[in-house]
Amino acid sequence: MSKIIVIGSGLSAIASIKTLVEKGYKPLVLDFGEKLSKDKELLKNKISKEKKSEWKREEVEKIIQNPTLNNEFPRKLYMGSDFFYFNKNKHLELLMKNPTSSYPPAASLAKNGLSTSWGSAVLPMAECDQQIFPYKSEDIKEYYKKALEKIDYVASHDDMIKKFDLIKDPNHAHNNLTDIEDILRKLGNNKSFNKKFISGHSRLLTNFSETNGCINCGHCMSGCFNDHIYKPEKDLQNFIDNKKIDYLPGVFVDSFKESKIGIEVNCINNKNNFSKFICDKLIVATGALNTTVLYAKSYNLYENKFKLLSKNGTIVPMLSFKLLKDNWPNRHTLPLIFFTLFDQNKTNMYTQISKSNELIIKKLKGKWNKHSILSQFFSNNFLVAHSNLCSDNSDHYSLKINDKNSLQKNIVEITRVENDKKKTIEKLLHNNFKKIFNSINIYPLNFLRKETDSQHNGGSLPMVRKITSLNQVDENGNSNFSKNIYYVDSSVMPKLPATPIGLPIMANAIRIVDKIKPF
Ligand SMILES: Cc1cc2nc3c(=O)[nH]c(=O)nc-3n(C[C@H](O)[C@H](O)[C@H](O)COP(=O)(O)OP(=O)(O)OC[C@H]3O[C@@H](n4cnc5c(N)ncnc54)[C@H](O)[C@@H]3O)c2cc1C
Repeated sequence: MSKIIVIGSGLSAIASIKTLVEKGYKPLVLDFGEKLSKDKELLKNKISKEKKSEWKREEVEKIIQNPTLNNEFPRKLYMGSDFFYFNKNKHLELLMKNPTSSYPPAASLAKNGLSTSWGSAVLPMAECDQQIFPYKSEDIKEYYKKALEKIDYVASHDDMIKKFDLIKDPNHAHNNLTDIEDILRKLGNNKSFNKKFISGHSRLLTNFSETNGCINCGHCMSGCFNDHIYKPEKDLQNFIDNKKIDYLPGVFVDSFKESKIGIEVNCINNKNNFSKFICDKLIVATGALNTTVLYAKSYNLYENKFKLLSKNGTIVPMLSFKLLKDNWPNRHTLPLIFFTLFDQNKTNMYTQISKSNELIIKKLKGKWNKHSILSQFFSNNFLVAHSNLCSDNSDHYSLKINDKNSLQKNIVEITRVENDKKKTIEKLLHNNFKKIFNSINIYPLNFLRKETDSQHNGGSLPMVRKITSLNQVDENGNSNFSKNIYYVDSSVMPKLPATPIGLPIMANAIRIVDKIKPF
């Protein structure tokens, strides 16, 4: 019998697993862990072994195809497949109640979860965003360091440091692109607004090593053929190979229950067989939505409504007459500049600025390895700003988990609830953003602004100093139902900062697991 079980293999799970292994435990990891289809995986491996010049058009096109390209909200698909977005299976179904918002919040049953295709943009949380958390910034500092240990980190010693700790010396630097350096220098010299924003180079968990890193193939939005964008897969495999963990994929955890014999974890495998595992401590790292469902089912909270926080976003093209000739596809398509607008209480808007990515290029009739005239023109003259608001200023989802229906399936009813203040706040922030960029001769075309979604969700079981409701957990990630079950993913974040949540999730998971007393 394994004494400690972790559910999941995403960012929060791997952070927990690493900490447990370091502390000398051998956890059992239960994971639904769906994988890329065999043919796509073979193709991905083949392409990754070839030189770029040897790539075949049909093969690359096959693997990067993106049928969501013309949707309202194009999804960033992993190798042409959206297998990592969970929508329904035979155990659970997500059902959007508002007809206009067809996309449910991002949830995953994939091996490595949503990190399978994340952008790897990272920042620690700013001090002003930390206030509502039941622990102080100093208490989490060492865990940020731990989270970044042995992970390739691209960042620079620049203005961002004023608000966002660099955490560790970067392993790699960005290529100095003269146009981007010029923009950053002008932003840095901007005296009229410099108390309202911070800008700097992007920070990414990506391998930019010149010898064995990014090959600048221009296809980051499909996932990385070579896995240079960090995902937990290699760490997980190392732990499996070195017998530091037991990993059991293909199991759907249905619920858990604490009794005299310990915590009973009830699972269903691919063949519909039920099984039960018993442990002393359980770490739940199944991603905010799945964790909320598990929690509701385990404690029969079918009448409860859970508030799942989200972050609204926008994409705006920005005209610049001074850009250099774009050399796509011989560059990466990840963000180049981070920009945050803040006030005393919070970072209000976080923006990633990039050159056009392959999805935009494809929309403008570009080919897999070549610009069209239109996409070349666009890429030479426009940058793209992808902004997110914080959860305080954004819409949220209301979740209600229905008891199993006649098909033995739980339905999650999801209603998107609009934030009345959002439009006014957004307008104000975008106007400030525009003024700042206009002052350095870059022109955000707000009339072309497209609304998006951040795909950052959380806060359904918020950490609070003193628990007053069934939906809350304490600073150790425990609810009042059990002090042996720890919730470690973004479900416990009391708010979502406008900045990326991946690194804060990892650091918090390490913090929670590190504090578990020996047993
Ligand atoms: C396209 C995209 C881009 C993003 N880019 C960024 C970015 O640049 N920076 C950033 O900080 N964040 C980004 N995010 C958000 C970030 O990826 C997620 O917040 C983060 O990966 C969530 O990690 P997690 O461990 O909480 O959960 P998940 O990634 O959802 O992992 C859940 C794990 O639990 C397993 N699981 C779930 N339910 C069950 C069950 N019932 N039984 C068994 N196993 C189960 C799954 O198989 C999976 O292994 C992005 C998200 C998306 C979708």
